[in-house]
Amino acid sequence: MKKVHIKSFGCQMNVYDGQRMADILSHQGYEETASPEGADLILLNTCHIRERAVQKVYTELGKLRDIKTAQGAEGQETKIVVAGCVAQAEGAEIQRRQPAVDLVVGPQAYHRLPELLAEAGKRRVVDTDLPAEDKFGFLPAPKRQAILARGVSAFVTVQEGCDKFCAFCVVPYTRGAEFSRPVAQVMAEVERLAEAGVRDVTLIGQNVNAYHGEGPDGAVWTLARLMHRVAAVPGIARIRYSTSHPRDMDDDLIAAHRDLPQVMPFLHLPVQAGSDRILAAMNRKHTGDEYRRLIERVREARPDIALSSDFIVGFPGETDADFEDTIRLVDEIGFASSYSFNYSPRPGTPAADIEAQVPRELMNERLYRLQERIEHHRQAFNRAMVGRSVDVLLERVGRYPGQLAGKSPYLQAVQIESDANQIGDIVRVVIEKTSTNSLFGRLAAPGEADGKGTLGKGLAA
Ligand code: SF4
Repeated sequence: MKKVHIKSFGCQMNVYDGQRMADILSHQGYEETASPEGADLILLNTCHIRERAVQKVYTELGKLRDIKTAQGAEGQETKIVVAGCVAQAEGAEIQRRQPAVDLVVGPQAYHRLPELLAEAGKRRVVDTDLPAEDKFGFLPAPKRQAILARGVSAFVTVQEGCDKFCAFCVVPYTRGAEFSRPVAQVMAEVERLAEAGVRDVTLIGQNVNAYHGEGPDGAVWTLARLMHRVAAVPGIARIRYSTSHPRDMDDDLIAAHRDLPQVMPFLHLPVQAGSDRILAAMNRKHTGDEYRRLIERVREARPDIALSSDFIVGFPGETDADFEDTIRLVDEIGFASSYSFNYSPRPGTPAADIEAQVPRELMNERLYRLQERIEHHRQAFNRAMVGRSVDVLLERVGRYPGQLAGKSPYLQAVQIESDANQIGDIVRVVIEKTSTNSLFGRLAAPGEADGKGTLGKGLAA
């Protein structure tokens, strides 16, 4: 059997795409290998979001060229493929700078991998089309063994692309316009996952709550309506969705948090900044107060909900006062976790042309302060779990003998002592202590009460 090594960088969408490329290649006689050494095919599934992403790809490709050369000297042919958003953005430039690359394929064209690979045997190939056809309709179903190997939690892409055009973001250019998969297609995938033992599905998309897929009745279905259908699939105990835009949190979606017990009380809803001036410059189409009011409505619907966000520090023109607005918002909302990054100009985006770039040193100072506040709230949220009992989905064996590792409803890693083979079960766990990145607990006794009040606003001080 031929071997393929797939290395995915970046977001959940890329993880999903990497798995689907593995599924395609498994039908072409490839099996996955954890190491690039010895692989017949090496596939870099790249991300363009962070600074120096492109440079990192070229550095990585230099190492892969060396492997290809060494394997060639021993008579083994090795193909190198670059996929993902850097492939889309750079196109033929990749092969110009690194001639060892056989194929460059964009995120909307990877369903054509078998034919592109066959062509790449004869010449170097670039396919970065954003075709009108629905690539998902061409992807083969994952084999049952592959689903089992990936575990009891799974991503399902339901939406791709974005029409929001935030001033800093490359997604509308690399992934194209918004596209939603038809409901029937999503449901077939969820049902297949559930039959193989998946319990927790995260519906993903660059702007997932803008989902507007064609329903079986021919009408346009919203994400909330889709989630009602997913919740009815036997075996699916947990539903999440990511990543959302505040403007697309409609009433039905908020109500789904109240009405569907399968929808986990954890919402990743990026705000990016706290200053209205900066939010306008970012073209986010909402203010800080609109975001606050939205969070209030979500909390009314689901009082125990925990929130997370993304933040960009040092967007061009950000003053000290603007930054203080961000800190104020972070302290008011009390996020359970968040991602934060220094702004970095992405070529081709409107913000890259703004002259008032914030000096690197100042950006670093602000980022440090923001991360300190974010960590403060995260730790407070985690500490508030101690003494509580929560449902934990057991996902895998832990690092030590007799340990099982799982996830709380709030996406926290939880470790318990248990010799039983309970992977895939949802068990009640009393949280006894926390470390920097995990919670530790014990199985709750039958009928053991939860001694604490509702989690949510106020507990994440
Ligand atoms: S909504 Fe998200 S994906 Fe779309 S442009 Fe803004 S940051 Fe990028």
